[in-house]
Amino acid sequence: MSVYLNTVAKERNPTNMFNLILFGPPGSGKGTQSEKLIAKYGFKHLSTGDLLRSEIARQTALGMEAKSLMDQGQLVPDAVVIGMISSAIEANPGVPGFLFDGFPRTTAQAAALDKLLAEHGSEIGVLIALQVPEEELIERMLNRAKTSGRSDDADENVQRNRLAVYRRDTLPVSDHYAQFGKSLSIEGVGAIEEIFGRICQVIDERSAMS
Ligand code: AMP
Repeated sequence: MSVYLNTVAKERNPTNMFNLILFGPPGSGKGTQSEKLIAKYGFKHLSTGDLLRSEIARQTALGMEAKSLMDQGQLVPDAVVIGMISSAIEANPGVPGFLFDGFPRTTAQAAALDKLLAEHGSEIGVLIALQVPEEELIERMLNRAKTSGRSDDADENVQRNRLAVYRRDTLPVSDHYAQFGKSLSIEGVGAIEEIFGRICQVIDERSAMS
């Protein structure tokens, strides 16, 4: 995290953390932007999708259970992902902040996350929602499937299901943080650098306020 962010955060936040939720539908660019944000600010990246794919690769019982749900574009149970996030927070004391990517995906997960962070004397600084039109999302996912090897990206029916699940179960998460004035939308279409610049502007403003 930048020296500036650290100094400001230290004054206002005893744990010296600024935590961000990078929010948006599948294919909105969360993974790409996360990499750039980690390089700039030193966030600890917590992507539940990545954690689940690692469980599948290691053929754990959890991974095997999650795989069929993921292949259909359904959410894995709240308790599973909350448990994974809880362990990851415990395992990373002293980081400058967490970047949550693909989590929380339900309001129950959001409430659990708020509680976990509060137990560590911290909170969410801001949720940044990337806005991308649906047809562009489908196109991006089909393109990603060519290189990612992700079976859930390759099938258009699964993608439409993921988008329906997003609208039904996940969009309310941004309302959850909006009630605390912590939810902001930005245009997720355009050059990667342009979008990155918009995200950084929000982080710099919000971290100065927290
Ligand atoms: P992602 O890589 O974030 O697109 O996630 C891929 C798939 O993993 C999703 O379609 C879900 O099946 C599952 N998944 C990832 N994160 C979560 C979460 N927070 N809650 C429930 N299921 C999740």
